[in-house]
Order: sequence, then structure tokens, then C-alpha cells
Amino acid sequence: MESPVVKNQKCSLGQFWTIRVWLKRDSGQYWPSVFHTMPSTCSCMSFNPETRRLSVGMDTGSICEFILFEDYNKMIPARTYQAHQGRVSVVLFVLEMEWLLSTGQDKNLTWHCSESGQQLGTYRTMAFVSGLQFDIETRHAFVGDQSGQVTILKLEQDSCSLVTTFKGHTGNVTALCWDPVQRVLFSGSSDHSIIMWDIGGRKGTAIELQGHNDKVQGLCYASHTRQLISCSSDGGIVIWNMDVTRQETPEWLDSDSCQKCEQPFFWNFKQMWDSKKIGFRQHHCRKCGQALCGKCSSKRSTIPLMGFEFEVRVCDVCHESITDEDRAPTATFHDSKHSIVYMHYEPTTGSLLTSGTDKVIKSLNMTWDSGLI
Ligand SMILES: [Zn+2]
Ligand SMILES: [Zn+2]
Repeated sequence: MESPVVKNQKCSLGQFWTIRVWLKRDSGQYWPSVFHTMPSTCSCMSFNPETRRLSVGMDTGSICEFILFEDYNKMIPARTYQAHQGRVSVVLFVLEMEWLLSTGQDKNLTWHCSESGQQLGTYRTMAFVSGLQFDIETRHAFVGDQSGQVTILKLEQDSCSLVTTFKGHTGNVTALCWDPVQRVLFSGSSDHSIIMWDIGGRKGTAIELQGHNDKVQGLCYASHTRQLISCSSDGGIVIWNMDVTRQETPEWLDSDSCQKCEQPFFWNFKQMWDSKKIGFRQHHCRKCGQALCGKCSSKRSTIPLMGFEFEVRVCDVCHESITDEDRAPTATFHDSKHSIVYMHYEPTTGSLLTSGTDKVIKSLNMTWDSGLI
């Protein structure tokens, strides 16, 4: 799988409608080697190191395919797919199937045969798609959209069927990442959260990871170190230790009065009248899920084993039960110092690339102890 030349590559979406290949020189610096002018703005890309095939989605709805030479000093156009009406949002090349999967502004998921160039099938999604992953073994496509849903589709050669839909985010799904070994799907959202959907466990476990203060923009999984890397538009990069067993957050309980002190909540007019009490706002303890008044849930704590790396509201009893050991962080936090729009992790070199709204590409090195240099 590993190609020695590919290690030193990165491709960028240029502002003048160009595709550029950057080569890492002996000095350790990246220098541009070759570029290709494009007919319109590039919106997404997928690169396969084995075949050196680069698929570039564009604002016009077409996907341009290039083959890069072995020395990465030349690239030749191979094929153009008229895939969508409107901007291509995600493109994904699957070598094992010889499929080119893509989603676009026209809300269609389409897949083409990359050998013949023919369109094989199409599926109309509920909303604009912003995340796409594919499981080669079972031929399942995971589609994350702007309504916050993740749809699982089973793709056949020329047809597809809806398997199930996951709902968990309160904002758009902005990124998806599939780990085929553990059979876990990660979804990132504009609601600042990440959800880990344990599909392989077959128990319907969904674990929330709260470690960002802004929209999640990218997710990558480092399978050899079992770390999830996530980034957000405020420049934050979080490296999550996925060797830790985390618990699901509880369902929030419904009550008309505080489940500790029995003060009525403000909509409970009857009890307020009967006991001549003022109504209180309802809050929830993030650990036990009980519906509580502000006074009975005044404490704050991190609960890393529930995915809360930031302090959240907890009740007094739960606050007592959380030990210092429980509070040990299960993730490390880093600042890329630019507003990230895209992130790529290269497992063969351990390098993490981020590109930002400042039009800068940054290359960071992931170290074994979860650090970034
Ligand atoms: Zn209370
Ligand atoms: Zn509690």
C-alpha cells in the first residue's frame, strides 16, 4: 500500500483555479513541482497513491480525473465525468470496486465505473451532502448531510437501498470518518460535537465527544495508534485516545419539578399556585440525566469518560462521585493558529496537513505521545 514517493506529496486547491503538486525537498521544505489550470473552482478532491489517480470535483458539477507521473513532475488529464448539476461536495475513489463516488449540490449521490467512465447509479439524498465514506467489505455508503442525519446505503453495481438513518446532531454533519477495522463511524458537526457510532458492536451505542468550541471541520482516524484527530474552524485540533472505553451520555429525563428538591419548573402552573412557589428553569445533569433546578445543579465538572472534555453541568451527587482520576483528560488539545477548512492525515509519515481560510497549508507531525510539532 505504501508508496515511497507519495509520502512527500500534497495537493492543494489553488485560488486561481489550479491544482498544484508540492514536493518535499531534501531541506524538508515543500516546493511546487507541477500545476494544472482548471476551468472552474475546485471544490473537493480524492487521491489514490497506488494508481496516482487524482479525482477533482468542481463547482460546475463535473469531476476531472488526472494521472500523476511516478516522479510527480507531470500530471495528465485522464477523464471528465459530468456527475452533478451544481457544485460537487465530496468525491471518493474506491480502487477495490473501481468506483468513483460523489455527492453534489443537486442532492444526488452518484457512482461511476472508473474503468468505463459510465454512470452506474444515483440516489437522491434528503439534504445537501457534506460527508461521504464507504465500507469496501459490505459495500455500505455512509452519507452525512446538512439536516444533521447520517444515512447508510447499501450499494450494488447499479442500484442502492436505504439501510438506516442515524440522527444525533443538532447541526449540519460536516465530516465523516469510517474505521473499517473497529467498524466505527465518526461524524462531526457544526454543533461542535463528534458522535462515535459503534456499528460493529451491534448494540446501537453512540458516544458523544465534546472537545471543540466551534464547527468541526475534519475527522481522521489513525488506526495504528487508535487516535481520532478532529479539527474545528477556530483552528483547534483535538487528538482523542480511542483506546479508552467511554460511556454513553444518559437520556435527559422529563419532569415538571426538580427531581432533587421538588421545586416546580416554570410551566408547572398548578404546583406553583398550590405551593405558592416561583417556577424555575429546567436544567439537566450531564452524568445522570436528571431534570433539576439551577440550585441543585450548580456544580461543573469535566467527564472525559463520557466524552465531555469541557466542564459541564452536574448535580451535587454526581459531582461527589467523579474522582480526580475520572477527570484525567482522554484527549490532547492543539492550536493550528488558522481557521481550518480541510484536514488530511497521512498515516505512512504521521503528518497532518491543514489548509485554512488564510490560504496557507500547514504540515504538522503527529508524535506517538499525541503531541504535534
Ligand atoms: Zn432543585
Ligand atoms: Zn447527576
